[in-house]
Amino acid sequence: MTQAELNKLYESLTKEEALIRKELADVTVKNPSAKGTLQPKRVEYGDPDDEDSYAHEVTDIDLNVAMEKELKTRLDEVVRAKERIKAGQYGKCENCAQDIKPERLKVMPIAALCMDCTRKLKS
Ligand SMILES: [Zn+2]
Repeated sequence: MTQAELNKLYESLTKEEALIRKELADVTVKNPSAKGTLQPKRVEYGDPDDEDSYAHEVTDIDLNVAMEKELKTRLDEVVRAKERIKAGQYGKCENCAQDIKPERLKVMPIAALCMDCTRKLKS
């Protein structure tokens, strides 16, 4: 990868990072369990003693927790990819330091591991 390509990638990763952080802030506000000081917004769902509305609320919170987790994982991957670009290590596997195949990086620019390590670490 040329320096110009790396710069371009770094730029798009920075944009993606900002986007994820914004989404994460949204989810975190909607998800009271993520912030100790916020109380669940029961009011939105009507009578807290009503079982149906309570179930609805729980589902929403669960969904937000799942989304938050996913966004955090994604954010971590993006940040790490940026760090690798800065350190001149982009395209190298974080586990075995081998070059990650360009085809793989094309479909997954934030890939931190080569295919072999992905397979090894998953099994
Ligand atoms: Zn590897």
